[in-house]
Amino acid sequence: MIIEPKVRGFICTTAHPLGCEAHVLEDADYIADQPSLNKFKNVLILGCSTGYGLATRITAAFACHAATLGVMVERPADDKRTASPGWYNTAAFEKMAHNKNLYAKTINCDAFSDACKQEVIEIIQRDFSEGIDLVIYSLAAPRRTDPVTGETFMSTLKPVGHAYSEKTVNIMTGEVTQINLEPASSDEINNTIKVMGGEDWARWIDQLIRANVLAPHCTTVAYSYIGPQITYPVYRSGTIGKAKEHLENTTQLIQQQLAPLKGHAYIAVNKAVVTQASAAIPVVPLYASILYKVMKAQHLHEGCIEQMYRLFSDNLCAKTMQNLDENGFIRLDDRELRPDVQQAVEDIWKQISTENITELTDLEGYRKDFYQLFGFNFDKIDYNADIELLEKK
Ligand code: NAD
Repeated sequence: MIIEPKVRGFICTTAHPLGCEAHVLEDADYIADQPSLNKFKNVLILGCSTGYGLATRITAAFACHAATLGVMVERPADDKRTASPGWYNTAAFEKMAHNKNLYAKTINCDAFSDACKQEVIEIIQRDFSEGIDLVIYSLAAPRRTDPVTGETFMSTLKPVGHAYSEKTVNIMTGEVTQINLEPASSDEINNTIKVMGGEDWARWIDQLIRANVLAPHCTTVAYSYIGPQITYPVYRSGTIGKAKEHLENTTQLIQQQLAPLKGHAYIAVNKAVVTQASAAIPVVPLYASILYKVMKAQHLHEGCIEQMYRLFSDNLCAKTMQNLDENGFIRLDDRELRPDVQQAVEDIWKQISTENITELTDLEGYRKDFYQLFGFNFDKIDYNADIELLEKK
């Protein structure tokens, strides 16, 4: 089958296995060019197949030479449909790790469920005699079933308190329009906190501690985002921001849970990048296209892999953390939020329209990154080649 991109809104429903492999290889090559790191030997990544979680896994494996255990929700191919990109990424990652004699195992299960936690614990008990020394929490999910009550909650991306009207872009056509978002109800706020807040992170750490599968001095890191004032109503002060606040506050509880192990819980505040999760947020893709333009011009641009290498090299594996702020957050968004960068973004934001979007933003770069998430747009891949959807047994 010839695999072509089929974009529906902010998602592409097809993925190219060779392109996804090329993507993982590029990231692994980037890491191979950086100094090696040590400290972590056994790393558990929750949300390991795409975006920041995948970049963390690649860094842990190829910079620290760590054994990695990953959890994801991804779809394999069938006779009509390609697999999801995270499925192909993970197959490519495991192949590369195994070629380097590194342990790499991935569980395709709902990380929010206790059954998944139990399966992971059993694998750690069997395969990791020294226990896990780093737990990464990088889930981005639209829904969560509470394992205690069985109730399913849906997250929403809405402002809180007031309606919000702002410019947004259709990344495929470049059309800039005004989007109007009504404020969330209190149920919608609470449900988003249930999905993307810290409850599940704490539940993971609690169950891992009870099962005695964490190593002394174990570290855990969850990812958050703050962003600029422009996106505050839909992000930081919106429903997702309330969930992120909850996630951030959960650090204190987890810190207490980890105290007997002398462990540490951190929040890393990462920069805006193109991922499947961020493409779904209104206004953010327009902001990111402008940000890319400004940061590339100032040679400050970073994608997931550069950010995650910096998380390890300058922070988690460093003698002193370079990016810790007064709240104890690891601020990898330091370059994004530099006043000169934000001033330049704001100046462009005021003028932006459908007519000048190509000139004033890096929509082309954004779009390229978007296609690459699904394995398209890599120069060295022959997209006219016939691909077997199902590997022959
Ligand atoms: P992503 O969509 O690329 O990755 C999400 C991951 O979660 C995937 O591996 C997916 O398989 C996994 N997942 C989703 N639901 C799951 C479930 N029920 N069980 C198991 N795995 C599941 O997202 P991303 O943008 O890399 O986001 C990861 C984290 O980084 C999020 O907390 C996000 O808020 C944060 N973050 C993202 C950005 C950004 O610009 N993308 C910026 C700062 C912080």
